[in-house]
Amino acid sequence: MSDSAKQTNANGLWIDVEFCTGCFACEAACRQEHDLGPTEYGIKVVEQVLNDGQTFNYVPIPTDICDLCVKRVHQERKRPACVHHCMAQVMEYGPLDSLLELMKRRPRSVIWSPKPRPRKRPYDDVKEQMRSVRTL
Ligand code: SF4
Ligand code: SF4
Repeated sequence: MSDSAKQTNANGLWIDVEFCTGCFACEAACRQEHDLGPTEYGIKVVEQVLNDGQTFNYVPIPTDICDLCVKRVHQERKRPACVHHCMAQVMEYGPLDSLLELMKRRPRSVIWSPKPRPRKRPYDDVKEQMRSVRTL
């Protein structure tokens, strides 16, 4: 299989920035799902103020921490936490080719597909130890 075909079969997140309300629920859901600290983000909603304050745009941007909720999706058979909690329903998760079809219909949208990487981060061990100390 060619690299481009593999990429097309990969999964990703689709976000319609035209209708994002800037509610920050995706940020909060991701933080809770992944037990992130207050200054860590799996997805960050960036606010754009344009035209002398007359236009506000909200652009949710996944970060390097985003693993597409691999455990939640593949072990628990649930949608990613951000997608599940987006009340405006402007987020979807799935294979890139179906997300591309969505993008054709909603042109002011973006697709995010992170490279697979190890789930564990350097400080995960420390967090795990702290959790076990708290439960003693
Ligand atoms: S897919 Fe999961 S890890 Fe990625 S931004 Fe959404 S909630 Fe966070
Ligand atoms: S939860 Fe949905 S509507 Fe709210 S900021 Fe995130 S993408 Fe936008």
